[in-house]
Amino acid sequence: MTLTGEMLIGFAAVHGANGSKRALNPATNAEIPEPTFGMGSAADVERAACLAAQAFDVYRNLSPEKRATFLEAIADNILGIGDKLIERAHAETGLPVARLQGERGRTVGQMRLFAKVVRDGHFLGSTIDHAQPERQPLPRADLRLVKVPLGPVAVFCASNFPLAFSVAGSDTASALAAGAPVIVKAHGAHLGTSELVGRAIQKAVKEQGLPEGVFSLLFGEGRKLGEVLVAHPLVKAVGFTGSRQGGLALVRTANARPEPIPVYAEMSSINPVFLLPGALANRAEAIGKAFAESLTLGAGQFCTNPGLVLAIDGPDLDRFVKVAGDALARKPAQTMLTPGIFDAFCSGRSKADAVSGMTKVAEGLPAGELRNAAQAALYVADAEHMLASPELWEEMFGPASIVIRARDVSELLKVAEHMEGQLTATLQIDAIDYVDAQRLMPVLERKVGRILANGFPTGVEVCHAMVHGGPFPSTSNSMFTSVGASAIDRFLRPVCYQDMPDALLPDALKEDNPSGVRRLVNGEPDAPINVTNAVA
Ligand code: NAP
Repeated sequence: MTLTGEMLIGFAAVHGANGSKRALNPATNAEIPEPTFGMGSAADVERAACLAAQAFDVYRNLSPEKRATFLEAIADNILGIGDKLIERAHAETGLPVARLQGERGRTVGQMRLFAKVVRDGHFLGSTIDHAQPERQPLPRADLRLVKVPLGPVAVFCASNFPLAFSVAGSDTASALAAGAPVIVKAHGAHLGTSELVGRAIQKAVKEQGLPEGVFSLLFGEGRKLGEVLVAHPLVKAVGFTGSRQGGLALVRTANARPEPIPVYAEMSSINPVFLLPGALANRAEAIGKAFAESLTLGAGQFCTNPGLVLAIDGPDLDRFVKVAGDALARKPAQTMLTPGIFDAFCSGRSKADAVSGMTKVAEGLPAGELRNAAQAALYVADAEHMLASPELWEEMFGPASIVIRARDVSELLKVAEHMEGQLTATLQIDAIDYVDAQRLMPVLERKVGRILANGFPTGVEVCHAMVHGGPFPSTSNSMFTSVGASAIDRFLRPVCYQDMPDALLPDALKEDNPSGVRRLVNGEPDAPINVTNAVA
């Protein structure tokens, strides 16, 4: 597959005429000469949106088998690109090859998981309440509920996962699984990777004989194309991963439309890790080492990076800080995704360096000749200071973290109450800590989307039970997850049919259940329960 720098609008390959851009290798700051990418305009958005709207009814009414086969074809085509995909992503992002290979596995695994979700049909929420003509004083009508897709979805790719949160990432996979056509706005930090994956999806649309508007890929810079896309009346929902500023700007645009639409923005999180006294006494060194690994993974460019550590002051915490600091001091500087992200990290670090009452206790190895390379850092502050300094709560996107020393568990609770919404919170606990942990749990349940025991938050499993979401500002809508099978719910809404003739009902609601989906009938599950599985 040769890169051309073209956008993919339905089946057409279009060289955008609204400016151009070459990709950059962040490890060298050198432009990658080929190709030159043409940026899109409002007219390109218009074309993609019209095609998506035209495709919508056909695509959403495909049989589950056909839609699932399409998702699997995308996965196969991505693998079919071969090493070229990894090489290009490596050149554009500076991410290590092994990490990108793993991310490709996650991306195709995610597509296949959603194929399974589509075949299973549980996501449709099919529910039937039969008529009760004899009911007194009034009869009940026949009522049937099923979920339908919202309409075309705009997806804004993340910079930090060029495959798993990008063109064929979780937002795209879950929207396509829901039956929604997708218009992707590529991230400027990996345009070539985006084109390769976009062509793999376009090929699957063609191979499966689907309408061309099921998928389009647009390039654009300077926020204009993104704003036009979100404002377009034919776009009905938005998925976004990136900065708080960017996510909130898109929420504002979506809310200002004559018909406001949902924006599922995943934004900023500092992912507190609580070291409870028993665990710290028993395992300070082991926790310190594991923490340093988690903090520096992928140059700290994870939305689940552990940016805050909270513990009770004392010799056990000193041991943790010493081991974590020593481990960080040996960590080489790592290339960040873009010069912009590197500059933002440096400016966050400079601010932290200048804050009085906060001490830098460790720093990673200097960058030397490496370009855009982040040097890890660990800071310590006391809880009282943290509570009084709103600027310390801002996400430093990169390998930097702050250890907060509290006087006692009550002060830990006070800090927990003070924090904003988070994607994750982690408890390092031993059995002796359960009483303290029970005091923290209600606070964490109000504040975060995923609560971990004795692990680290980096590494988000793609499965049915995953929640990658949380209260504001970690996301713009805490009711949903952007990773895992339930991510599909963001792009669905319920429709109820009252006294509708069987011939006009969708298959999932027809009386004889031709698609064989699990349903709730008159308040009871209608599928036979497999007793062996239920007991296991
Ligand atoms: P970003 O600046 O938010 O950009 C992400 C995407 O959204 C880009 O395609 C960008 O388009 C678009 N966009 C941003 N603001 C917009 C606006 N006002 N209107 C229309 N489109 C807009 O994120 P980034 O480039 O990935 O990284 C910048 C910072 O975001 C990082 O330093 C980090 O702090 C944060 N970040 C956080 C996470 C996380 O998961 N928490 C992940 C990645 C990044 P343009 O190319 O046109 O600007």
